[in-house]
Amino acid sequence: MNTSSVYECNSPLITQDALKSSIIYKLKFVIGKDPYIATQREWLEAILLAARDRIVDRWMATNRAEYSQQLKQVYYLSMEFLLGRSLSNTLISMNLYNDIAHVSSELGFDFEQLLEQETDPGLGNGGLGRLAACFLDSLATLNLPACGYGIRYEYGMFRQAIRNGQQIEYPDDWLAHGNPWEFPRTENRYQIQFEGQVVEQDEGYQWIKTNDIIAVAYDQIIPGYNTKATNTLRLWSAKASDEFDLQIFNDGEYYAAVKKKNESENVSRVLYPNDSTYSGKELRLKQEFFLVSASVQDILHRHWLIYQRWDNLSDKMAIHLNDTHPVLAIPELIRLLVDKYQLSWHDAFTQAENIFSYTNHTLMNEALETWPVEMFQKILPRHLQIIFRINDEFLQRVHHDFPHDYELPRRVSIINEENGRLVRMAWLAAIVCHKINGVSALHSQLMANSLFADFTHIFPHKFCNITNGITPRRWIALANPELTKMIESYIGKQWLIDLSQLSELKKWVGYPQFLEKLGQVKYHNKLKLAKFINQTQNIIIDPQAMFDVQIKRIHEYKRQLLNLLHIITRYNRILANPQQDWVPRVAIFAGKAASSYSAAKKIIHLINDVANIINNDERIGSRLKVIFVPDYGVSLAQKIIPATDLSEQISLAGTEASGTGNMKFALNGALTIGTLDGANVEMREHVGEDNIFIFGHTTEEVKQIKQNYYHPRWYYENDPELKQVIDQISHGYFKPDAPSFYQDLTHSLLDGGDPYLLFADYRSYIETQEKVDDLFRTQQLWQAKVAQNICNMGFFSSDRTIQCYAEQIWNIKPINL
Ligand SMILES: *Cc1c(COP(=O)(O)O)cnc(C)c1O
Repeated sequence: MNTSSVYECNSPLITQDALKSSIIYKLKFVIGKDPYIATQREWLEAILLAARDRIVDRWMATNRAEYSQQLKQVYYLSMEFLLGRSLSNTLISMNLYNDIAHVSSELGFDFEQLLEQETDPGLGNGGLGRLAACFLDSLATLNLPACGYGIRYEYGMFRQAIRNGQQIEYPDDWLAHGNPWEFPRTENRYQIQFEGQVVEQDEGYQWIKTNDIIAVAYDQIIPGYNTKATNTLRLWSAKASDEFDLQIFNDGEYYAAVKKKNESENVSRVLYPNDSTYSGKELRLKQEFFLVSASVQDILHRHWLIYQRWDNLSDKMAIHLNDTHPVLAIPELIRLLVDKYQLSWHDAFTQAENIFSYTNHTLMNEALETWPVEMFQKILPRHLQIIFRINDEFLQRVHHDFPHDYELPRRVSIINEENGRLVRMAWLAAIVCHKINGVSALHSQLMANSLFADFTHIFPHKFCNITNGITPRRWIALANPELTKMIESYIGKQWLIDLSQLSELKKWVGYPQFLEKLGQVKYHNKLKLAKFINQTQNIIIDPQAMFDVQIKRIHEYKRQLLNLLHIITRYNRILANPQQDWVPRVAIFAGKAASSYSAAKKIIHLINDVANIINNDERIGSRLKVIFVPDYGVSLAQKIIPATDLSEQISLAGTEASGTGNMKFALNGALTIGTLDGANVEMREHVGEDNIFIFGHTTEEVKQIKQNYYHPRWYYENDPELKQVIDQISHGYFKPDAPSFYQDLTHSLLDGGDPYLLFADYRSYIETQEKVDDLFRTQQLWQAKVAQNICNMGFFSSDRTIQCYAEQIWNIKPINL
């Protein structure tokens, strides 16, 4: 029977009248609201539900095709998915945006304003979570059979406000009005075990007397752009286990039972707000296991449903680990195959090797996950046993293959015996996964030669590079409709699914008219941002000024402080030389600091204090303004990036694995000032060195400087401008009411070793900023370089990235639809 024709319920042609009536239907009968008194948010929800209805058939058709074609699937496991708002993305992927916009204006709404009512789910910290979201978009758009697995945190990334210059954190109660995108799957539930003990019996090991939690699935449809294909993002929510509760209820301990129930549901309560740092908390270990246990059980369940055999597992699935956070999936898969499904250790281990692959996202020590053996033993005793066995067998092999390197086993052992006994998750991944990739050429090279040097030696073919990318659907079509329209008027529409076609714009870049238009589009976007900043912060900025933007997580290695040193230098120069013909600038910052990261919070405080002094100094006027836009997230990025002239990508060389913000800006017609770090290196290769402002020491030079003796004080004493700036910060120029407030900050630079080499790169940064000013004076020359950037950004589409993963790592093929 061809079920698709029997149950298909929307006609291929959707008229605007039909859309309008289904919106009103949703409002009345699903939301239960009288259209005469419905709020904007309720109307938005009605529109959203009407739009959602129209992708459900595609979703089901895709799922049926995946089952019937028995294709190999990729499962993408990630603790974070930073999707951004979904309505406008769904509408453009179905080519319904204009129709819905029209209908909503007929209903009396400003559609853009209405779209702002949608909740932006912040289930991620930054780059890593946003990458996972771009990947889902590309996977669906390329018709690849994939499913994302994550956690349905009840509270996402905290909302940030600035009070008296300081970051204040508010809980992100993103489910307060419900989540109309999700389909609860209360029947898809799995028991997640914790703690308990392991006993050996005839049939093998048993993990018993555990404390259990139930994982319940919530599905969201991920539409592909301009294709019938969709994918699923499945998020797990914790529910107290019923059996567990009954026990205490029967003892008459009602309150104790309810308390226990609440505690066990804590596992999916809140996202850890640490970006690139690892905290070692027991709850985090539980969250990670919760994600992987539910996902692996679900994956095996689905596999058995289709195939009823286990020997073809790795022919039918690839499981990808986004950083080490889901690495526990490895011992969990082996445990289930051996203990539950009775496979031999050898077969289970071989399947795991062929199934798993892992992406490394950072080389920084503070980010590398390690768990104390005792904590592991208490929470996951069976998994610790499995890890020990993997380790023993691996070390035997190492001893056999490299008998003369006596130190090697100690260095590559999963268990670090040096300070306390720690389980090194990255080592477990390196030993079992068949492929390990870094996220930019530079990072992959450093990864193979430093962090994993020993493993590169042992497994020469495991390590590879796949440079990150961004989805052009969200990061240009949605974020920058005006630029999208302009590009379409030259080269049509195909470039949105084949970004390399942007190079066809090259024939136009010599025409002043083309450059003029680019400038106008940018100006309109800047005007919009200026209005937004005026409305939200009550600060007037000049849209003709250069918008100089650094928006990303606040982290010492990203060097927002270096940016600030330049801003203060510029301020001093303007005061010293008020008559000079200054290029007016608006320096814009946004970003959150982890709540426990006091140095980063102090940097936010300083940015706001500097802004307060400079913006209110009448001698400066509109020549320099400093703005900190609170509550950075995907929606705010979509507003700020299209309005940017200068993109600040100034991390210390060797510290930023790739960066993806850098790509979003260049695609939207900003020029980059940056170091030779992460993907900046490849951006320079693609756009040409004349079209990007590179400064600072290279990774190799940084290594040299740090190896030999780095003396930050020398720079301070020999560079009068730098000295002036540091003295101003440390003597309270920007905080007259508490003059010594920033002394710890300047102290960490002068006497604390300046670990991110701000002083060593300062002069080169300042000089490069002067070149930026010079170019900006001649708008046509500036726009010519902007055009070169846009034309050459094709490589940085996440479609290219995903194509590489599909071919080189996962070995998956598109669905036939
Ligand atoms: C792109 C993006 C990031 C990553 O930015 P980087 O500059 O690469 O660190 C972080 N957060 C959000 C919301 C983003 O959209």
